[in-house]
Amino acid sequence: MKCVVCGRNEAKINGLCEECYLNSRNYIKPPRNVEIIKCPRCDGIRVGNTWYYGKILEDAIAESLEKNSKILDDRIDVKIQYSVINTQNMLDVDYILKLNNVEKVEKHLVPFIFKKQLCPRCSRYSGDYFESIIQLRSDGRLKDDELLDLEEFVFKNVDIERKKNPDLYVLKKESRDGGMDFYLSSNSSGRVIARKIADRYGATVRESPHLAGVKEGKDFYRITFSVRLPDYREGDFIKVGNNAYMVVAIRKGQVKVINLKNGYVESITQKDLRDGGYRIFARKGDEVGAIKLYEEGEYIHFMETKNYRTLVIKKPFFKVNREFLIVLDGEEIYIVPETMNF
Ligand SMILES: [Zn+2]
Ligand SMILES: [Zn+2]
Repeated sequence: MKCVVCGRNEAKINGLCEECYLNSRNYIKPPRNVEIIKCPRCDGIRVGNTWYYGKILEDAIAESLEKNSKILDDRIDVKIQYSVINTQNMLDVDYILKLNNVEKVEKHLVPFIFKKQLCPRCSRYSGDYFESIIQLRSDGRLKDDELLDLEEFVFKNVDIERKKNPDLYVLKKESRDGGMDFYLSSNSSGRVIARKIADRYGATVRESPHLAGVKEGKDFYRITFSVRLPDYREGDFIKVGNNAYMVVAIRKGQVKVINLKNGYVESITQKDLRDGGYRIFARKGDEVGAIKLYEEGEYIHFMETKNYRTLVIKKPFFKVNREFLIVLDGEEIYIVPETMNF
């Protein structure tokens, strides 16, 4: 019987000759991608979940393709050849299908992911390995509870980053110059974490790479991320020109403040503060308690509970409870608005 498609060759499978059978559809389900991880220290290579030492990259890719490509018809023999398209992070894969003595090439493009990661052996045995330092500093002094809070934030984010980068670790933590240094096993994770700190605390980040040697024939740089917190904090009181504000939140370069005169919430960029100048006149915790005695026209008579002085202040444009807080800038008195909503 002749092949029902070409009518030339003998039909062998399902009424088709080998050639027409091979041409009738695809027989390969290629892997979604090939991911190869290489240890930057020892050149160990991870394929799947196993680390190999002394294996060359080309073989690792071939092995991964072989292991993860599905052949959809077991009558067909398959040989795999590939080349790497570096510019596109793709593997150009030729699956050479062979049925009896007839061959056909089925082509697929497979995404190629190449990552570097310390192998468990190296991260275990080389306790001094690090790629980046996050230096946390402040324009003013960092208080103990702030340091604790920052440290917690760093470690929390190391845990989050580790999900993407399993060999990420903090080699050591040092107290230095009123701040802290964190030594991390990764440059890229160091950068991510430094930026998160900057966003959270309104800090600036400066990167300085230092040539640290040669690795795999290339210059190896360590990066120091200098993360500098501004001297004002959430809860502090600042003056910008003649306006007095309470800082209620610092996020992503924006400082949310309450105007102490009218109680309005305003937003100032950190850049404007830096460029335009400001003065911190009271810190969080400098507030003094006060008890309203009576109101008279535009004025509130009250007693402050620190030195028990009786004072008078012009009513602000926001509601003042019987008990409230004040902050002082020299002789000037400001009522602190309720900030429960922030
Ligand atoms: Zn045919
Ligand atoms: Zn290694």
